[in-house]
Amino acid sequence: MKLDKPIFTFSFDDGHPNDLKLALLFKKYSIKATFYITIQNSENPVMTPSEIRKIHSMGFEIGSHGLTHRRLPAISLEAAEQEVFLSKKKLEKMLGEKVKAYCFAGGKYQTRHLKLPLKAGYLFSRTTRLLRLCHPVEGSLLHTTMQYYPLTTLGYLKHLVRRPNVLAWRLFFNSIGHCGFNAPPKKLGRYLIDMAISEGGCFHLHGHSYEFSSKRDWKEIEELLEYAGSKKQCRCLNNSETFLTLSASRF
Ligand SMILES: [Zn+2]
Repeated sequence: MKLDKPIFTFSFDDGHPNDLKLALLFKKYSIKATFYITIQNSENPVMTPSEIRKIHSMGFEIGSHGLTHRRLPAISLEAAEQEVFLSKKKLEKMLGEKVKAYCFAGGKYQTRHLKLPLKAGYLFSRTTRLLRLCHPVEGSLLHTTMQYYPLTTLGYLKHLVRRPNVLAWRLFFNSIGHCGFNAPPKKLGRYLIDMAISEGGCFHLHGHSYEFSSKRDWKEIEELLEYAGSKKQCRCLNNSETFLTLSASRF
């Protein structure tokens, strides 16, 4: 089954201050996005509440990425519950509206954690599963198509071996055929955008703005956003809108 109109959705994790610069680029190309915020993070700096409110006031969705960015499997179930519940409460107090989207820190979770976001009142949880262009919704999970990161072909292969999916395998081999081995994200991104259009699918790029340090990094992500923004035959939605649209269409 194909979508009437292909969907593009973008999500960036961790709430690094570079998200402010990225949000301006999204605005420039009329692209909607979801920023997954962690309230504290010992690994990287995070935005202040007023900076988070600024991104929100620009029209972007704010999702929760946990309280402290600790990986749920590494902590007790009680602590995991705090990560999921308290981060929602704090963000909602900060923003004055419901937070619907949750994203597992480090993409790590176990079966016992799946019910926590639903129990806390989130609509869905975004994962870090890759190469999902068709049928990226699985229960309450929203999978992605690519990470904006120079992941090698071997990296994608290892990912697929751990989380096999027939359609993802097909996309993996097709992408090697079209982009070659170890394609840089800007090349792979263009190919996957084109595939979403031709297959009537959903292109979902996720990433981390703290990985953009050089002028070249910013130029390359801007070029990809400009490319996506030029595809007027597509719907650009935030993650919650994407989840709702895909769930309703049973896609
Ligand atoms: Zn993260």
